[in-house]
Amino acid sequence: MKKWSKLSKSHYRGRFAPSPTGDLHLGSLTAAIVSYLQAKVNNGHWLLRIEDIDETRNIAGAHQQIIKTLDRYGLHSDETVIHQTSKYRQLAYQQAYQKLKEKKLTYRCVCTRKQLSGVNTYPNTCRNQIYPTDSMHSIRVKTTHQYFKFKDFFQGHQVQNIAEQSGDFNIIRKDGLFCYQLAVVIDDADQGITEVVRGTDIMDSTSRQMYLIEQLNLAQPNYAHFPVLTDSNGAKLSKQNHSKAITHENPYETTWAVLQLLRQKPPQLKQKTQSALLDWAIKNWQPENLFKQTEINSLC
Ligand code: GLU
Repeated sequence: MKKWSKLSKSHYRGRFAPSPTGDLHLGSLTAAIVSYLQAKVNNGHWLLRIEDIDETRNIAGAHQQIIKTLDRYGLHSDETVIHQTSKYRQLAYQQAYQKLKEKKLTYRCVCTRKQLSGVNTYPNTCRNQIYPTDSMHSIRVKTTHQYFKFKDFFQGHQVQNIAEQSGDFNIIRKDGLFCYQLAVVIDDADQGITEVVRGTDIMDSTSRQMYLIEQLNLAQPNYAHFPVLTDSNGAKLSKQNHSKAITHENPYETTWAVLQLLRQKPPQLKQKTQSALLDWAIKNWQPENLFKQTEINSLC
């Protein structure tokens, strides 16, 4: 793995990090397009990362399908695609866990899902208990009542507090899989990501990620949480609520519709090709049209 720390700060590196739980739908295509435009407008690199950390949710063949769809839409990763389940990524997460453990920031938690049902903020029940290695346990990281402030590119000034939002949080699940919060922080750092572009639905993860970044002494990226697309009931378009996969037949029309939803007012180009439309979008990207909006009704 290259050492990105040698790159100058001004070299923009962004990423799109889909989970392979199905093919892309309108919502995830929007994430791909927004992150791509942010990277290209800043003359940066756009990287694709397959977030397959939760192996229990992965769908066979989905990651190949996502890559195929992105190719069809002219969205090509500027570097090798990485997968969280690969051996070298798993090793990186293990090393990060060891560091946190050495700092005495981790502990075993035996609370069951049932005990925690309906609990939003973990009451740190197991923090001062000692459980044997062979008990069914997850690993949590100790947190503090600390305010994290950041200036989000789309949403403006944000203040979050882990103690109020989640309490001590899991970094390793009971089945031994590393959790998203840890993996994403290590991946973003190792890939030298300078701006994390993703939907507002994940914005409240940011303080947990900033906390891990601080504890592990990693470089702090900027954040840009764009408004997520919602359906007629106001629910986020997602694979869980059965959003339809996008079509491969007419990437131009689909991308045009996404740009329209993103308040970019795309014109009808004479040359109706995907590459001409992406070129137009890069040249005319007006992110300010999305400032302070947390969601967009996709039916409008
Ligand atoms: N893998 C997450 C998703 O598919 C994205 C996480 C992120 O961008 O930090 O929703």
